[in-house]
Amino acid sequence: MPARIRHLPDQLVNQIAAGEVIERPASALKELIENSLDADASRISVDLAEGSLSGLTVSDDGTGMAHDELILAVQRHATSKLPHDNLEDIQFFGFRGEALPSIGSVSQLRLFSRQHADLHGWALTVRHGNADKPEPAAGERGTRIEINDMFASVPARLKFMKTQKTEAGQCYDVVRRFAMSRPDVSFILTDSGRKVLQLPAQDSTDDGFARRLSEILGPVFARESVVVEAEKPGIRLTGYAGLPTMNRATTAQIYLFVNGRPVRDRQMLGAVRAGYQDMIPRGRHPVLVLFLTIETKAVDVNVHPAKAEVRFRDPASVRGLLVGALSSALRSAGMQATAESGEAALRQFSQAPSFGHRGASGRYPIQPGSQSSLLAEQTFQQRSKQSPDFLIQAPPQAKYDTCPEPPDSLADEEEILSAYPLGAAKAQLHKTYIVAETSTGLCVIDQHAAHERLVMEQMKAQYSQGQVKSQSLLLPEIVELPYDQIEAVLAEAEQLRNTGLEVEAFGPGAVMIRAVPALLGQTDVKILMRDLAEELIQLGGTTALNDKIGHILATLSCHSSVRSGRRLNADEMNALLRQMEITPAAGQCNHGRPTFITLTLADLEKLFGRT
Ligand code: ADP
Ligand code: MG
Repeated sequence: MPARIRHLPDQLVNQIAAGEVIERPASALKELIENSLDADASRISVDLAEGSLSGLTVSDDGTGMAHDELILAVQRHATSKLPHDNLEDIQFFGFRGEALPSIGSVSQLRLFSRQHADLHGWALTVRHGNADKPEPAAGERGTRIEINDMFASVPARLKFMKTQKTEAGQCYDVVRRFAMSRPDVSFILTDSGRKVLQLPAQDSTDDGFARRLSEILGPVFARESVVVEAEKPGIRLTGYAGLPTMNRATTAQIYLFVNGRPVRDRQMLGAVRAGYQDMIPRGRHPVLVLFLTIETKAVDVNVHPAKAEVRFRDPASVRGLLVGALSSALRSAGMQATAESGEAALRQFSQAPSFGHRGASGRYPIQPGSQSSLLAEQTFQQRSKQSPDFLIQAPPQAKYDTCPEPPDSLADEEEILSAYPLGAAKAQLHKTYIVAETSTGLCVIDQHAAHERLVMEQMKAQYSQGQVKSQSLLLPEIVELPYDQIEAVLAEAEQLRNTGLEVEAFGPGAVMIRAVPALLGQTDVKILMRDLAEELIQLGGTTALNDKIGHILATLSCHSSVRSGRRLNADEMNALLRQMEITPAAGQCNHGRPTFITLTLADLEKLFGRT
């Protein structure tokens, strides 16, 4: 027999509400970002500590709250977002006034807020349900909300927290979704001090949206998607649908929005499935971003505690619009595009690569920044006529000027892949090629060409600083050469010394080499000397010194130790890839051949006709 009926204490009521609204750190994060956007923020920073397990902070430059509002903000059912008491006309993300009190009941919640006209702000802390009085505090205009010790007072919930990686992933996803919805707002996401996302504000045009999307979903999506657009009275649908070839094992990359609000709506997911019917393999899911704009009175967002689902007044009409728009967009042009570029890919694949992509500067024009405009500039019809540009792509150019930080121990392979453009080495083939898995596909590296390029760049750097390191040979090497070559070599002895090669006359028909550039490692000095002598003869006496040095350095680097024909272990292979990523013009060897080629997963799928 239960005890007598009674009102529950506030603290308990809040915890019960928190059970629905705040399932995990990512749900708290979602509420905080919604609040920042509702407060007209133009800049939102999210800082996670250990993927949110140790805490999370959201700062914005929005309107801020006054002293009294701060007190109300952490109380239940207090909201500034229903000015006309009309649940049929919800204009903001929030409206229930539940998020902050719920979060405060299951964590230590610290709020700082300063309105724009005020000289200072106010800070307030809620410790597992108990709120302080606001205290004056210094800080930037806007609001900063910090959550710590989440669920420390709710052990049952704490048990359900997953690994750091999972919780972090959920948080990243929340930020990505809002960032897609609001390209006009700048988003920065860090995790334990490491920058995860940095998305500058874009203008509110289709191009701005396309750039934002490309920054989040990558250039492959830009190439492999079709525009979706449809309208009927009171409803509008816009977005990009990934081609069916770009399918995934889960629905994680289906991004759906209703009036700008990210949702995971079952009805809409069903409509998406129907739109892709017969085009996507069973059990697989597309990559897609769809925005549905609908009159506020035609949709009820007050049906799910976390506002993840919505109810349409006329579900059949919404479904019809979605299915129709998707299937016609995909059928009319999408399939054609895949088939055409697949054929082109096959043709390209059997040809030797050309260097058509090199810009006048000798560098590749493809840079991380410029890729983002792909979506903006190409309609899918144009895309289908373009020859595929997958064969040769430069790595994002010298993104870092020092070696990128090694990922921490918790980083999984996916993180390595996304941090490093050339990915993780998987195998060496024929003692010549390294095959690496990248975040978007695979990469085949010619180890000799690549290493040669690296040595060349290092030698150039050392040479220009006048300090090429030279390695004395234990036993000087005597190399016999034709008379004219000996003369050519000795004429350049001084220059050669500057590049680290010490050579002198040895009798009538030979030269003696005492030292070679240290960067070359173990090298066959005889072959090196013969190649170099021939090179010098070809250059003749008239070549400008600079050019001559360039050629000498190139020839020397060509004899560096990692030539084709050497087995490399995984560490050596990865070291080579990491070095390539920070070397200028690493996409080509000293003879202008590519050092690596890339194939995206989409390219592979095309090659195998997996449509
Ligand atoms: P809701 O968003 O449903 O109103 P919340 O508990 O999330 O409920 O927030 C309560 C109130 O606190 C909001 O209505 C708003 O007035 C204020 N508030 C919360 N976060 C911010 C913020 N970042 N900037 C300005 N005001 C905020
Ligand atoms: Mg809210």
